[in-house]
Amino acid sequence: MKASKNAPPAFSWQAWYDGLGGRSINIPEVEAILHKIYHEQFPQFEGAIASQKIEFESPKAAAKHIKEKAKELNADIVGICKIEPSDIYRGRSISEKYAIAVGARMKYRHFQTVPSEASAIECVRIYHQLGETVITLAKYIRSLGYSCEIEHPIGDSNLLHIPIGLKAGFGELGRHGSIIHPKLGPLFRMGSVATSIPMDIDHPIDAGIAAFCDICRACRKYCPAKAIPDERSKEGGKDHLGNDRYLVDTGKCFPYFKKYNYCSACLPVCVYNHKEWARDFDGFKTKKFPEVIFEEPPSPFDEVPKEEKHFYPKVKR
Ligand code: SF4
Ligand code: SF4
Repeated sequence: MKASKNAPPAFSWQAWYDGLGGRSINIPEVEAILHKIYHEQFPQFEGAIASQKIEFESPKAAAKHIKEKAKELNADIVGICKIEPSDIYRGRSISEKYAIAVGARMKYRHFQTVPSEASAIECVRIYHQLGETVITLAKYIRSLGYSCEIEHPIGDSNLLHIPIGLKAGFGELGRHGSIIHPKLGPLFRMGSVATSIPMDIDHPIDAGIAAFCDICRACRKYCPAKAIPDERSKEGGKDHLGNDRYLVDTGKCFPYFKKYNYCSACLPVCVYNHKEWARDFDGFKTKKFPEVIFEEPPSPFDEVPKEEKHFYPKVKR
């Protein structure tokens, strides 16, 4: 299946970094995790498919089985959706029909001060953990006799993670541009495995989250780079509920994000976080509200031509 003509180009992180003088976050733990992702996980994307195919009783049984397996492999949330051409980056293609979306919670305790080295490490730690989940799930699917493709959470994937997550029922799109899950809030990351096992699919949800964003402005207030908008934009495409999207100004966000430990301030301040002071069973003490450090924002940078901007397409219900 090919991308639709209107699909956005894949986000070119390298072009952004190059335009801003290269990566400037240099934290040994982050570098060690990134090294593991690129040198240990990426070579495991391909694998042999068992010659004998296991048939499931029904698409419902297949979905249940695969979801249970993903949970066993450390996914906190799992959803399934059909892949449409608008979910594929322009210039890319994918040969599978369904995406099994998996999400894992980031720990609020590491986001109590943002931006910080602790929050930067937690961001890449969860990419690695979810990388293990998608790689092991893909190996399992191949052992059942089915082909599959891995969409690693760190990026350079064929699929757009956000439309896939919305269609798989992970939550609603927040003002800060991240999906908000009704229980996990926005402090989670996601990846997926694409396969053609016939499976029942999930559906987008309307839990009133997008509507609440229209009256809450916490992330906008605490964004140190003033990149989060006041109003929805007619130019940024629609969310799955048909709302105009809030369009985060990446020209302001990215220079800040790149300079100050991947920033992430908009995530822990979001009121939809279920803070760990109420649920940290390890007994780890956390604050009720994070401390946001407002460093001097770097100059805005936006060299990306309008037609190449990374807008998400409208997600059909
Ligand atoms: S990551 Fe930081 S700079 Fe970017 S939108 Fe979120 S709060 Fe603003
Ligand atoms: S902080 Fe408020 S406005 Fe921002 S995404 Fe969360 S709920 Fe929406």
